[in-house]
Amino acid sequence: MCSQKNRKKVAIETLLAQAGNHNDGDSRNSVSTPIYLSSNFRHRDLEEIETFDEKTQYAYSRLATPTRRVLETTLAKLEEGKHAFALTSGMAAIQLVFSLFKSGDHIISLDDLYGGTFRYFDYLEKQYGLTFSKWNGQEIAQLEALVQPQTRCIWIETPSNPTMKEVDIAQIAQTIHEKRPDILIAVDNTFYTPIYQKPLVLGADIVVHSATKYLSGHNDLLGGVVVAKDDEVGEELSFNFKTTGANLDPFDSWLLLRSLKTLPIRMRAHTENAQKVAQYLEDEPAVEKVLYPGKGGMISFYVKEHEKVAPLFKRLQIISFAESLGGVESLLTIPYLQTHPDMPEAERLRLGITENLLRLSVGLENATDLIADLKQAFA
Ligand SMILES: *Cc1c(COP(=O)(O)O)cnc(C)c1O
Repeated sequence: MCSQKNRKKVAIETLLAQAGNHNDGDSRNSVSTPIYLSSNFRHRDLEEIETFDEKTQYAYSRLATPTRRVLETTLAKLEEGKHAFALTSGMAAIQLVFSLFKSGDHIISLDDLYGGTFRYFDYLEKQYGLTFSKWNGQEIAQLEALVQPQTRCIWIETPSNPTMKEVDIAQIAQTIHEKRPDILIAVDNTFYTPIYQKPLVLGADIVVHSATKYLSGHNDLLGGVVVAKDDEVGEELSFNFKTTGANLDPFDSWLLLRSLKTLPIRMRAHTENAQKVAQYLEDEPAVEKVLYPGKGGMISFYVKEHEKVAPLFKRLQIISFAESLGGVESLLTIPYLQTHPDMPEAERLRLGITENLLRLSVGLENATDLIADLKQAFA
């Protein structure tokens, strides 16, 4: 947990490149933040305990570690929120947000979600008595009609996974908050990252990330992030976070902090590559339809003939047939079987998650090589 300090606002590239440098003297002026592998911290005397401030001091690593604090301070600034939390996975981050709700509360979510989020919501409904309504992301009036007195949260993923639907966060936040400022607007910002979209600035209350994806960006760690816009929600999350304890360990905190430094340059390179690959897929005769929102590194596409899918996976030489996304290595997945099998078949098909839909996470290899790899695999 961390609180945002009041420092002069700089551009995102500067903020991230300098993350952890010029910090408050914890680290003997090292330019790179050290990893503190300590589960606990010594106290000077009894007086220190009596005046202990969780926001600036250390006692026990579930509460705070110096490395995670630098990371969380950076994340809060990055999403322009007040409180940030670094957790062990994206799902742990989503679970932390849901620690705000209780049995009987009503949640409205977009219908097309990450498969694990869908599974978690299903579990909450069955085991914990939360109720959910699904919105297709089209008419804002339909969203308003779903609001009930017990509605506590609207859960948005944009662009959605895997069908790349986009919704207007600002319009949703404005419309809902006008009548119901108590309803929390929560956005899973994993796909676009704050480089392309800052949900809190657009009016949302909470942002979550699977930091496993673009924020870490190297296919080498699992992590999750929650950022809250204001103190009230932030303080409650902070209490729940230290009470439940899915906090990111010092080594992964360091890795994630290191990765954030190159996030802006990586996102631009992912977009450049993805635009080229999407253009090739548009022209590829074996491809029926391409779903690409124009920015970011994620492309979904339909293969015309199902018989072509298995050979495609088998023949790829550079792109890996693997789950996950957002890293430097390009990955191809089949959501129908890999990320969304827990969604009922009828629901998958209704959303367009068919056996012919593939999802490509375009990495940072040379685009010409990626296109050649796909071309030879389709041939
Ligand atoms: C991967 C992912 C998650 C879950 O994150 P984990 O780090 O795998 O737990 C949540 N939302 C989206 C959009 C994802 O892609």
